[in-house]
Amino acid sequence: MSLGAKKGAYMDEPLIFERSSKGRNGVEPAALDVPGVVPSKVIPKGLLRDGLDGFPDVAEIDVVRHYTRLSQWNFGVDTGFYPLGSCTMKYNPKINEEAASLPGFAKLHPYAPAEFTQGALRLMYELEGYLAEISGMDAVTLQPSAGAHGELCGLLMMSAYFRDKGRPRNKIIIPDTAHGTNPASSALAGFTVVPVKSEGKGLLMPEAVATVMDEDTAAVMLTNPNTLGLFERNIKEIAETVHRKGGLVYCDGANMNAVMGIMKLGAMGVDCVQFNLHKTFSTPHGGGGPGSGPVGVKKPLAPFLPMPRAAKDGDKYSLVSTSPKSIGRMKSFYGNFSIMVRAYAYIRRLGAEGIKKAAVTAILNANYIKEKLKGDYHLPYDTFCMHECVFSDKFQSESGVSTMDIAKRLIDYGFHPPTVYFPLVVRGALMIEPTETETLTTLDEFIEVMKKIAEEARTNPQFLKDSPTTTKVGRVDETRAAREPVLRWRENGREP
Ligand SMILES: *Cc1c(COP(=O)(O)O)cnc(C)c1O
Repeated sequence: MSLGAKKGAYMDEPLIFERSSKGRNGVEPAALDVPGVVPSKVIPKGLLRDGLDGFPDVAEIDVVRHYTRLSQWNFGVDTGFYPLGSCTMKYNPKINEEAASLPGFAKLHPYAPAEFTQGALRLMYELEGYLAEISGMDAVTLQPSAGAHGELCGLLMMSAYFRDKGRPRNKIIIPDTAHGTNPASSALAGFTVVPVKSEGKGLLMPEAVATVMDEDTAAVMLTNPNTLGLFERNIKEIAETVHRKGGLVYCDGANMNAVMGIMKLGAMGVDCVQFNLHKTFSTPHGGGGPGSGPVGVKKPLAPFLPMPRAAKDGDKYSLVSTSPKSIGRMKSFYGNFSIMVRAYAYIRRLGAEGIKKAAVTAILNANYIKEKLKGDYHLPYDTFCMHECVFSDKFQSESGVSTMDIAKRLIDYGFHPPTVYFPLVVRGALMIEPTETETLTTLDEFIEVMKKIAEEARTNPQFLKDSPTTTKVGRVDETRAAREPVLRWRENGREP
C-alpha cells in the first residue's frame, strides 16, 4: 500500500527567488558578431531595459530541479486514487495526450485559413456530432472553456430565446442539491434564483417544481444524476410541468459519466445541457488547467448558439461565423481546442459500447464502495446510487471525529480525500466518486483504509485530529490559511 510522503526523497524547496545568487545565469547569449551595430542605437529606447526588477539569478539546473521538485509535491490521478466526488478524476489515457500534442494540432495557428485546417475542423465537426448523439441534443457548441462557462452560455441562450419571443423571463428554478455554480451562473446571466427542496429520498418532486413554476420562469436547472449521486427519476414529469408553462429544462451535465451511452437527456425533455469534457471525456484537471464545457441544445435554441461553429459542405469543412440570432462569442477563437482533441480520441477509442461500459463500471464501482462501507459510515440515502455515493460523519461525530479529520487521515494512507461537506443537504458529507478506471485491488485498499479510520475514530479520536502526520505540511488552520496566507515556505525560520 502506498503510505505517506516522507518515505521518498522529497526535498524541501525554497522559493526560486531565494535560490537567486547575483550573476548566476541560465543562458548566456553569444556575443553580437555583426560589425558596427550597437544595440542601444538600433533598438528603440522604450524597448530597452537593464534588467528585470526582482528577477532571480539562477542556473539552468536550479530551474529544472526547482520545478521538478515542486511537481513531486503534487498529488494527481497519476500518483494515486483520487475519489473526489462530482469531479470525475478518472485516469486519462496517455494516448489522448499523444494525440493532442501531434504537431498538426498543437502548432496550428488560429488564423490559418480553412483550406489548411481541414483536419482540425473535421475533428470539431465530428466531436459536436458525437456529443449530440450521446446527449440526444440537436446541435452543440464547443466554445465554452469550463462547466460553469457552459452553464453561463446555456443560460444566455435561454435568455435570448425568451427575448426573441418578445416575452423575457427572469427566474430559474434550482434544487437544493445543485452545484454552487448553477445559482452563480444564473445570477451572472441576469436571472433570479428560485430554490426548490428535494424531498424524502433526495430526489426532486414534480409537485415541488409545479408550485414555483410560472410564466416568468425561464427554466428549471437540474443535475442528473444529482449531486447526491442519485438518478432524478421524475425528470420527464418535471420537464412536462415546465414545458406546459412554456419554460425550458437545463441539465447540468457534469455528471454525464454516470449516464453516457445508457440514456439520452434529450429523450427526457432536456432542452440544454453542458458537458464537462475535462471530467467525463478524459483531460487531466484539478489544478485549474484548461477545461472545456461544450453545450448541447434542442432545435429551438440552436439559432442562439455562439459563433463560430464548424460546418460541413460535401467533403469540405469550414467555420461559420455569422448567424443573426447568435449570442456572440463565449471565447476567443474556437475554445480550448486541445481538450477537444483529447475528448475526440477518447470517444473514438472507446466507441459506443466502450462509452456505455465506462458508465456502467463507474456505477458498479460506486455501489461496491457504498455497500462495503455502509456499516462503518452513515449513509443518509441508502438506495442504489449512480457514479458516486455520499456518506456522512454521523457515526464518527459521536467520538468527536469530523469529516475533515477523516479526510486528513486518508492523506496519511496515500489517498486523496473525497469531496467534503458537499452536497450541502448532507451534514458532514463525504462524497466518494471512484470512477471506472480504478481496479478492484485499489477499491479494496481504499475500503480497508476507510474501515481502519472508522476504527481509529472509535479508539483514538485525538490521533485523527492531528493528521496528516506524514506530509510536508501537517494540519493547517484553514480559516487562517485563507485570511492570512503565508506565501513564503519558511517564515521566521520555521515551517508554517
Ligand atoms: C464540476 C461541476 C461543475 C463546474 O464545472 P467547471 O468545469 O469546474 O466549471 C458544475 N456542476 C457540477 C455538478 C460539477 O460537478
